[in-house]
Amino acid sequence: MIIYLGEELPEAMKEKTYQNPFPEKTKCSKCSSDASPFLLIDDEDGELVAVSPKRKNGYPIFPHDSCAFCLYMCEKCGNVETEWNQA
Ligand SMILES: [Zn+2]
Repeated sequence: MIIYLGEELPEAMKEKTYQNPFPEKTKCSKCSSDASPFLLIDDEDGELVAVSPKRKNGYPIFPHDSCAFCLYMCEKCGNVETEWNQA
């Protein structure tokens, strides 16, 4: 697992993704303001998904082998949103 932040973040949002680049902004689900990126996690070794979180019915959520997560913080209320994709 590798974490990118600060000056590394803009480039990581383009290159450390398994699908399309992460968007420059996303919408806050609580107040609909813009949320800006502040941290990206590249789970290239699959450690995070190995935890296999479970649904209410007990079946595991199964993302593919590796995932990339970009965390955004709302510019108005501080709520954190996550965009993610998988290999
Ligand atoms: Zn907000």
